Amino acid sequence: MAVKPQEEKKMYFRFPKFIRRMMPTMLWKVDSDDSVYLTFDDGPTPKITEQILDILDNYGAKATFFCLGNNAELYPELVESIVERGHAIGNHSYNHTRGWLTTTDEYMASAYRAGQFLPHTRLFRPPYGRIAIREVRRMRSQGWRVVMWNNISEDYDHKVSPQRCAQKVTRHIHPGNIIVFHDSVKASKNMLYALPKVLEAIKKRGLKCEIITSEL
Ligand SMILES: [Zn+2]
Repeated sequence: MAVKPQEEKKMYFRFPKFIRRMMPTMLWKVDSDDSVYLTFDDGPTPKITEQILDILDNYGAKATFFCLGNNAELYPELVESIVERGHAIGNHSYNHTRGWLTTTDEYMASAYRAGQFLPHTRLFRPPYGRIAIREVRRMRSQGWRVVMWNNISEDYDHKVSPQRCAQKVTRHIHPGNIIVFHDSVKASKNMLYALPKVLEAIKKRGLKCEIITSEL
């Protein structure tokens, strides 16, 4: 079933504070005064992920890649490059599983299946940012860390210009930020324009880009 554009947009709603308080076991931001945390979802994608790795190297920046299992299965060499170049891997389900259409068992099965193609990771980012409390609990009980975000570029939205995409992130840069980009074909035009601008802004603020670990 194809996702209608309108439906997709709605899925990335901003989480009100009360929801964050209800779900304290999810990581929304990191307690840090000198670092921010770049994340890339939906890859790895040939040509695009490699460009990101080069841009990150130019800035001495580290990031966390929340990979889809089916892409990792197709492009294991990209997963290897990500790790070799000092970045972290997270799990983003096997095929962008929709949390609201699956049972908890099916949801977990998609994460396990993705895990077969990813180096050991206990970081999980829910596709569309949608995950039921029972799934968060199940993941938590099995030692997973569910990683959300507090700064999203909306690089996937074709109504957002590349310039606006960069501004969306740079105007909210604070220590401890978890920033979302996508290493997908769909997002690449906005993302590849915005990423260097964001890295410049982070550098100007004197902040480092570090990987997310399950201890954070
Ligand atoms: Zn995604």
